[in-house]
Amino acid sequence: MSTETSIATHLPAETGQPYPYRRVELVEPDWTRFPGWRDVTAVEWASVQWQRAHCVKNVRQLRDLLGDLVDERFYADLERDQAERATMSMLVPPQMMNTMVPEAPVGGPGSLTEALYADPVRHYMLPVFSDRRTDWPSHPHATRDSLHEHDMWVAEGLTHRYPTKVLAELLPTCPQYCGHCTRMDLVGNSTPVIAKLKLAGKPADRLGDMLDYLRRTPSVRDVVVSGGDVANMPWPRLEAFLTEVLEIGSVRDIRLATKALVGLPQHWLQDEVRAGMARVAGTARSRGVSLAIHTHANHANSITPLVAQASAAMLEAGVRDVRNQGVLLDGVNADPHTLLDLCFRLLDGAQIMPYYFYLCDMIPFSEHWRVSVAHAQRLQHHIMGYLPGFATPRIVCDVPFVGKRWVHQLADYDLERGISSWTKNYRTSIETAGTDDDALSRTYAFYDPIHTLPPAGQAWWAQHGTLDESSLKAAEMAEASRRTAALQAW
Ligand code: SF4
Repeated sequence: MSTETSIATHLPAETGQPYPYRRVELVEPDWTRFPGWRDVTAVEWASVQWQRAHCVKNVRQLRDLLGDLVDERFYADLERDQAERATMSMLVPPQMMNTMVPEAPVGGPGSLTEALYADPVRHYMLPVFSDRRTDWPSHPHATRDSLHEHDMWVAEGLTHRYPTKVLAELLPTCPQYCGHCTRMDLVGNSTPVIAKLKLAGKPADRLGDMLDYLRRTPSVRDVVVSGGDVANMPWPRLEAFLTEVLEIGSVRDIRLATKALVGLPQHWLQDEVRAGMARVAGTARSRGVSLAIHTHANHANSITPLVAQASAAMLEAGVRDVRNQGVLLDGVNADPHTLLDLCFRLLDGAQIMPYYFYLCDMIPFSEHWRVSVAHAQRLQHHIMGYLPGFATPRIVCDVPFVGKRWVHQLADYDLERGISSWTKNYRTSIETAGTDDDALSRTYAFYDPIHTLPPAGQAWWAQHGTLDESSLKAAEMAEASRRTAALQAW
């Protein structure tokens, strides 16, 4: 469905409503439809070791899996993207691969090509060169660390942006790599176009430094334990870290960030992990701490019975809630029906709470995925009223130097040039009172994709879009130097 699909033009006879809610039973697509998995048993499929060992990591492995069901031109397109555009290396667990083209009839040679090109999960997990824009592949203001998380590190990997919460990046790897990853600066293997930043400290030292910061900063009550993906941390080490965090009385909320609940649910279904989570959740409950899992699903096709089982296992272990933070991506989910389908599949089928959809961040080569703030505002309008209020996701823009803002919160909006202005009501860790007194009165900019602008706006960017240092705004210059200083300090 196209980005501009209007929900209001669909009035299905059975409900008379623009969105026709229907309960859908979850289905695990039959993986034996792919030639490379013809003989894979249910026992192998359920094994996390088998899943990790059979991830698709390069074009050769994809060809071994799909063979001539997909034309050579697709493989060449993918290979070119890896060489010239990709900010993330390829890593797709079988579970995720199996949610691509789930209903396409498998016929003779080439029969899956068009369906694979059009597939929403493929669109962000296996981006190809022809997906990307050629006019503006990157926004002139795109940056590698677009959220400036490194600038706000108070210990290596510990971002303190909001007054009462921190983000702990425990490790820089995931069981799957999403093409649009906002932490592309740090997460995953280097690609031909992006050399990744390396964490300097030893893992034990880094985690120790994070715990020390939490102990001496009682104003922090909420810890997002992330990465990467916590599913890549050996369970005993993750449990030891969580146990130490739970010893800190000022911490009242812990959220574990793992896309693997959707991409590799087999991880969260392991006996060791279930038993360990039950121990951690028991301790959290006894201390009045809320322990939750935050996952990342972008399309209803990703929600299968195994995902529902993993979610149920975590709730049974005592986790208070499993919530979804998706990313709004053109070609994947940026229309009202697709968003509502996903939310109902999460809620009805897998007991996962729809929570946020983020606009895709301004990282390099992401313009073909991004949508404008105006489009996101329309989407928010269209999805209101169908889901329970507590499960209606907020669509948010992560504004550089500000943080999450609901898309209707902007202070000003130049629709012609696609420049929205935002304010904030707190200081981040790089703006202490006395050193940056304007932090709360200044406005901060976010930029719509240029190809979505009216002709006059596109013409303006064609004239002004090649930014050199002298034309960067003062705040961006300050950011650049703070970032350099922060990196040198490590
Ligand atoms: S799971 Fe999250 S951190 Fe990992 S690649 Fe995807 S978006 Fe990035």
